[in-house]
Amino acid sequence: MKEKIRQLLDEVKSYSPADADQLEQFRIRFMARKGLVGELFDKFKEVAAADRKEMGLLINQLKIAVQEKLDYHKTVFDQTGDVTDETIDLTKPANKVDLGTRHPLSVVRSEMIRIFSRLGFTVKEGPEIEDDWHNFSALNFPPEHPARDMQDTFFIAKNPDIALRTHTSSVQVRVMETTKPPIRAIFPGRVYRNEAISARAHCFFHQIEGLYIDHDVSFADLKQTLLYFACEMFSTETQIRLRPSYFPFTEPSAEMDISCNLCGGKGCGFCKYTGWVEILGCGMVDPNVLENCGIDSKEYTGFAFGIGIERITNLRFQVKDLRMFSENDLRFLKQFEGAF
Ligand SMILES: [Zn+2]
Repeated sequence: MKEKIRQLLDEVKSYSPADADQLEQFRIRFMARKGLVGELFDKFKEVAAADRKEMGLLINQLKIAVQEKLDYHKTVFDQTGDVTDETIDLTKPANKVDLGTRHPLSVVRSEMIRIFSRLGFTVKEGPEIEDDWHNFSALNFPPEHPARDMQDTFFIAKNPDIALRTHTSSVQVRVMETTKPPIRAIFPGRVYRNEAISARAHCFFHQIEGLYIDHDVSFADLKQTLLYFACEMFSTETQIRLRPSYFPFTEPSAEMDISCNLCGGKGCGFCKYTGWVEILGCGMVDPNVLENCGIDSKEYTGFAFGIGIERITNLRFQVKDLRMFSENDLRFLKQFEGAF
């Protein structure tokens, strides 16, 4: 009998179950009411007194070894998740998925596009590397204009001149050259200027320009379109004012201010106590530009405007430093979580 217990002990010590079912079979074989351990305790009563002490120790050793095996493997199977249907909890909350955040310039650009879409403007895009004709000449820039200077523009090649576009007006030219009026489109995109980088200026920024050409388009149409944009973008209380200005490609030209959206026009530090902030440039398309693009200026008229997306974003979110838009600082970008 001692020999049999020693054999069982060896068997238990080297035992290793493949899964929870095998472990359960092992438990039943040894520890169930009529299992091997119980059987040995039953036989123990018949053991001669001289052998009792040694036999008792051996049976207890076996019992402890079996229990240790059971405890150890049960923990292992619990941790590795022996998955059965009963262990899947369908009511448990799903694992969290971290969503990214949209860049504030993207948020504002989308909103601007939505506003102009409601007025029937379609979106057109063009290349960021432009030739002289599309960026300057077709737009009535005289040969001596300072924008053609290396100080202001990033040239890729000279004679013929190829440059990073300085405005998205180049896309206006491309659309006018290839489309018969009526034309009603906006042109969002990145533009480049040779500026020293500071809190208020950068060597690249983003614009949305707009163009409307048809029969009898007037300055009143321009003003109403921009008033609608300002009211939709800021608030229905927003007022606009137009100041005479000059651009080579529009005549007459104007710059547009809106009543300060922080103080409502009463005057504050943001609007330098004037009650107004400048947001865009605009005007009636110069007849020369229409003719350059193959559009009969006696039959058609049109207006154009250009808005800096950074400018509108600053007014919207009071971003003090332009450089923050391109620094990829997550502390800044995460503030726009959930902004649509
Ligand atoms: Zn103000």
